[in-house]
Amino acid sequence: MRDEDFSRSLLAWYDANARDLPWRVRPAERVARIPDPYFVWLSEVMLQQTTVAAVTGYFRTFTERWPSVTALAGASDADVMAAWAGLGYYARARNLLKCARAVVSDHAGRFPDTEAKLLRLPGIGPYTAAAIAAIAFDRPATVMDGNVERVMARLFAIEAPLPATKPALKTRAAALTPAHRPGDHAQAVMDLGATICTPRNPACGICPLRAPCKARERGIAADLPRKSPKKPKPTRHGIAYLARRADGAWLLETRPEKGLLGGMLGWPTTDWREAAPDPAPPLPADWHDPLLEVRHTFTHFHLRLSLRLATLPADMPGPFVAAKDFRPSDLPTVMRKAFDLAQGALNQD
Ligand code: SF4
Repeated sequence: MRDEDFSRSLLAWYDANARDLPWRVRPAERVARIPDPYFVWLSEVMLQQTTVAAVTGYFRTFTERWPSVTALAGASDADVMAAWAGLGYYARARNLLKCARAVVSDHAGRFPDTEAKLLRLPGIGPYTAAAIAAIAFDRPATVMDGNVERVMARLFAIEAPLPATKPALKTRAAALTPAHRPGDHAQAVMDLGATICTPRNPACGICPLRAPCKARERGIAADLPRKSPKKPKPTRHGIAYLARRADGAWLLETRPEKGLLGGMLGWPTTDWREAAPDPAPPLPADWHDPLLEVRHTFTHFHLRLSLRLATLPADMPGPFVAAKDFRPSDLPTVMRKAFDLAQGALNQD
């Protein structure tokens, strides 16, 4: 199959089967309106490392509350971090704000329309720059995510393992990117990977690319892409201190900007390390050990966080959040798990 025929088959499939996503302008609507670069950027940042299902609610919340990049740039750090809570990878939320403010201050509130200029914005890496250039501005950029890598590995039966084979897969994807409708082409490959050429059970029988697909022909589609074995994740240990004052206020701190969960609200904790943690209570109190442990997995390690609980007098000074202002949904997932686990024990006190 020639590259033009390949692209034509894929676009015809996309015209009939494009997923309905809240940030997407579907092919039939594209004549009347163009995708909003703010929506494209926001959705692509949110979608890194997670799924459409997990992102949809957050996307709606953000765009209702901050309908433009200018509105987002004017939001407070605390409000944006709280709205992001639960979505993980919190450096993305900090960079989101930095980027929105740079678009407003350096580009008069309009996203630049080339990959090179987009790459100069905070938090925009090669993937996001290519996605915005292709989807919002219809540039022939090569957008590589896990779905696209899988489709390329199978189409060309590339058996060398990831991640070493990423550049070869990108070269293949770039060669297939057409000059006509490159934005829809990029979304079509991603949709194909998400709905037909899925990791475990590719539906080759209904795939628009079944004719040229080499992995299907050789019967190895489900085995690709191969992956180099991952190093096992280490386990780190820490202690989290949950304290409530007699007036119902909670002892909470904003974590330092740099580092894991940076800028997020959380319970005071010790350092997290592979050896047993040294206790480091945030203030003197009758801390008791309810023998409860939160388990959470980050990208590079597993965490076991044991809890210490205390009830404090109403006049205890410190970084307390009043009961009326405290929303567990403002906490990142690991901190919310600690809160959920501690609830029962604290209520028995
Ligand atoms: S034919 Fe099968 S393996 Fe090949 S691209 Fe389509 S779904 Fe994927």
